[in-house]
Amino acid sequence: MLEVKNLSASYGQHRALESVALDVRAGEIVVILGANGAGKTTLLKAIGGGVRPAPGARIVMNGRDLAMVKPHDIVEAGIALVPEGRGIFGELTVRENLMLGAFPKRARAGEAANLASVLALFPRLSERLAQTVRTMSGGEQQMVAIGRALMSAPDILLLDEPSLGLSPIMYKEVFQILTRVRAAGTGILLVEQNAKQSLKIADRGYLIEQGRIVGAGTAAELAADPAVQRAYLGAGEARPG
Ligand code: ATP
Repeated sequence: MLEVKNLSASYGQHRALESVALDVRAGEIVVILGANGAGKTTLLKAIGGGVRPAPGARIVMNGRDLAMVKPHDIVEAGIALVPEGRGIFGELTVRENLMLGAFPKRARAGEAANLASVLALFPRLSERLAQTVRTMSGGEQQMVAIGRALMSAPDILLLDEPSLGLSPIMYKEVFQILTRVRAAGTGILLVEQNAKQSLKIADRGYLIEQGRIVGAGTAAELAADPAVQRAYLGAGEARPG
């Protein structure tokens, strides 16, 4: 459904992505693992339209090349990004934030049905539709951000570090919800530093180092890979006592 080829991007002289290739199909969770500064955020921004890819990139969604189209057309094509830091409006209510996500043309006709399915996914939000978002916990705010993205009825959801700053109970709940989004047929591209938890829910993954994809496999293959265990799963670290 989403196919990325030869995706490079730079900030001035600094090459942040180099010839990245990956794909995400309907109904699967694909995780991108990489250290700080490896290029994960840049990768999601380049797909979502926030960073301009270098010439020659192909970002093909359901057969249409989006490499040079504007961010709102990317949303219309079925890709929704939940950015790092969530990008929600703290002074607005839960309902107002969700309705902002219903603005794309592709979502307008189905607005009521989309709202019902988002609230079914996030019962906590349905109890708090009138609450101002800044008064909510980090986990609840992350749910609002994901809910807003889902209001555009995306085929592919891009998520940048959804577990960041959340308590273990909260991120487990958020990850559990992602498995239900997958079950509804949406493809998910997930950037995470929490490798252990994200490999538990992912179907496949890619490793990114210094802007390049250096490994790929099923979640089970990656979890069993000694290099992945050393770099991302804490194997070989000194243990207290
Ligand atoms: P993190 O997990 O720390 O967010 P990341 O893997 O998401 O890291 P990116 O944020 O994509 O990494 O950054 C990739 C590289 O590009 C880094 O070297 C970073 O310093 C650089 N970079 C990111 N944004 C900019 C910017 N706006 N201007 C210049 N350089 C940038």
